[in-house]
Amino acid sequence: PAQRVSGFGDSVFAEFTALAIAHSAVNLGQGFPDFAAPDFVKQAGAKHIVESNLNQYVRSMGHVKLVNTLARHYAPADRHNNPSINPMTDIVVTAGATEGMFATFQAILNPGDEVILMEPFYDAYPAQITMAGGVPRYVPLRLKAAEARNGTSDDWYLDLAEFRAAFTSKTKAIVLNNPHNPLGKVFRRDELEAIAQVVCEKNVIAISDEVYEHLVFNDAPNRHIPLSTLPGMLERTIKLGSAGKTFSVTGWKVGWVVAPAPIARAIFLAHQWIPFCVAAPFQEAVADALEHADKSGFFDEFQVALCKKRDRLMDGLKQGGLPGILPHGGYFVLADTSSIWPKLQRDLQSGDANPSQPHDYTVCKQLTKSVGVVPIPPSSFFTPQHQPSVKDLARFAFCKEDRVIDEACRRLQAFG
Ligand code: PMP
Ligand code: GLN
Repeated sequence: PAQRVSGFGDSVFAEFTALAIAHSAVNLGQGFPDFAAPDFVKQAGAKHIVESNLNQYVRSMGHVKLVNTLARHYAPADRHNNPSINPMTDIVVTAGATEGMFATFQAILNPGDEVILMEPFYDAYPAQITMAGGVPRYVPLRLKAAEARNGTSDDWYLDLAEFRAAFTSKTKAIVLNNPHNPLGKVFRRDELEAIAQVVCEKNVIAISDEVYEHLVFNDAPNRHIPLSTLPGMLERTIKLGSAGKTFSVTGWKVGWVVAPAPIARAIFLAHQWIPFCVAAPFQEAVADALEHADKSGFFDEFQVALCKKRDRLMDGLKQGGLPGILPHGGYFVLADTSSIWPKLQRDLQSGDANPSQPHDYTVCKQLTKSVGVVPIPPSSFFTPQHQPSVKDLARFAFCKEDRVIDEACRRLQAFG
């Protein structure tokens, strides 16, 4: 294998999904819905596969119907008081947000260019930056001191002095993930304003991963605020979205990038050599689904339904002795495993507690074996330096059937 890939192992999601299968454990690891996608979404998919004869390549930058629908869907929300989105020049439809992010780094980075990531970061970012010849630089989101905490994802904050200090003459871009995986944090307007101010002052690009934009719960400090709507940000923001997260169809792999025309063109130039274009019937189906969802109030309903699952998991975890940090958005709860560690530790066999592996890895693997419940170790979203800050936490997904959440909680309660 080439050096570019030889340092990579399996992603943490592949590793823990395999563990779940091997131990017949309840899988609250990888963030994908295990419930059926909404009927209107599946029916749109079926219709365009069976009836529409959309079986050939479509426009590389994005199927015309989908880019038109996306432009309507996002204006005015993403261009508050700003010029409208030009569907033909400002959008690239990608094979999931993952390819959108990959094409973005390919399009904007020269060798040695630096990208600032906030820790914890979604694990694809550093790998994709490195493959583009760039260099990731890290700044941690920190958890407030115990006395200042309110027990929610709002307790994680960006220290602006640390953020500023991460910039160098080589910084090309920053990545913001809002709502955040795995913290569930929904950035407040004042936080976004402060970030935007630094980004404008340093004159860099902002890549805004907003795949969970429609999953902001009613108790969040504010609704989702697209980064592009902050002063000075429209001309420098690359926004990523995902039909997978929006419509519970992660396997369809339809995502998109919205950016100012010259940047979108650069992203397209990379994208045309990666997949060329994205599955035609699914693009048409996502367009229908977006139109239906905007008219029917689906996004509100889905957010309410998912919030109930969040509360169900939070309650169940608490009763099992694993209090969670209440997430305001997204798919995941971070919960404190320290009270069950002594019991898990007794079950460890030689080799289970590999000293080179972060403590939360040992905990999460042992939870799989002893309890039959699979979370994801959050240290996989941190650099080694900051991994100890999450050593007692585990990430549990609640985008799951109620009976699956209940069974996981029952097992934890029976164990604890
Ligand atoms: N960004 C974040 C923060 C994610 O959590 C995920 C996947 N869950 C993605 C991007 C990838 O999205 P997609 O499935 O559309 O490639
Ligand atoms: N984003 C998903 C998660 O955080 C995983 C997606 C993947 O496995 N590529 O669980």
